[in-house]
Amino acid sequence: MAPSSPYRGRFAPSPSGRLHLGSALIAYGSYLCAQAHGGTFLIRIEDLDRPRCPPENTPVMLSELKQLGLESAEPVLIQTQHESDYLEAITKLPTAYRCNCTRALLKERPCPCQALHLKPAAHQAIRVDLSTALAAHPYFVDGNFGTIYQQDYQAELAPNLVLKRSDDIIAYNLAVVVDDQRQGISEVVRGADLISATFLQLALYDLLGYRAPKFCHLPLVLEQHSGHKFSKQNHAPALLDLLTPLESLRLCLHLLQVIAEPTLITLVQERLEKFRHSGQVQAPPTSPHEVSELSALLSYAAARFDPAVLPRQALML
Ligand code: GLU
Repeated sequence: MAPSSPYRGRFAPSPSGRLHLGSALIAYGSYLCAQAHGGTFLIRIEDLDRPRCPPENTPVMLSELKQLGLESAEPVLIQTQHESDYLEAITKLPTAYRCNCTRALLKERPCPCQALHLKPAAHQAIRVDLSTALAAHPYFVDGNFGTIYQQDYQAELAPNLVLKRSDDIIAYNLAVVVDDQRQGISEVVRGADLISATFLQLALYDLLGYRAPKFCHLPLVLEQHSGHKFSKQNHAPALLDLLTPLESLRLCLHLLQVIAEPTLITLVQERLEKFRHSGQVQAPPTSPHEVSELSALLSYAAARFDPAVLPRQALML
């Protein structure tokens, strides 16, 4: 169906491994927000951190999203295919500077590099001084959490932001701004762990002369047992090992308060328990009937979903 509004949303995973529950919740949340606005939903692959996101992970991520009923309305943008665009954006930042400091040196003393106007060299980072631009954003209004104050996130906001690391990897905060702008994203729906980064991104939007999108953050899904996010680092099982695609959708719709499916909470907890004990879990195979049920349920959810009613508390499983 052709979009009936200028709303453009996206899901932008970093394919460091297989899809986990928390990411699937964000993927469905951003998809449903786009549907609720009659807009366009895009998928973008944020794989610039090559050591963490090897290329073979990208088709797996896209295939898992497809099994969940989620596809990009336009060709999937893969960030490693656009590195020159991020480097070009750096040249437009008047307060960008080269920095030779190692992490160890930065712990010992302030960085002197901004005043030194260093010549290009190997193993050199590029940073930008965001202090003035950050001061222009004492708060932003989040689509879910309301007004968010910068002073509450001060500890996480280093104003001398890395744009390119000394190993030549382009930083997430730069690439996300360049791509959300070029793809005309009108609202960014993503996990609450990126709330503080939003201030850095708003500052970058200003310095690059771009208009910022709206932001709407969704709560993280945490393992009750450990209090950790469901992620590769925390050794969580991949979502589609734990649940079938249809079960995954039903669980995410329950967590997003679109439909009440309390039995799915019990089911996922039982399978997680099994995984903890045996280190393995295997969801039952998907029947063709389930595939059509998933697509019908997703359409039903899209018609019912209200972006004004989103969960705010961390979701414990
Ligand atoms: N690529 C980021 C991640 O997987 C998300 C970026 C965003 O949505 O702004 O955590």
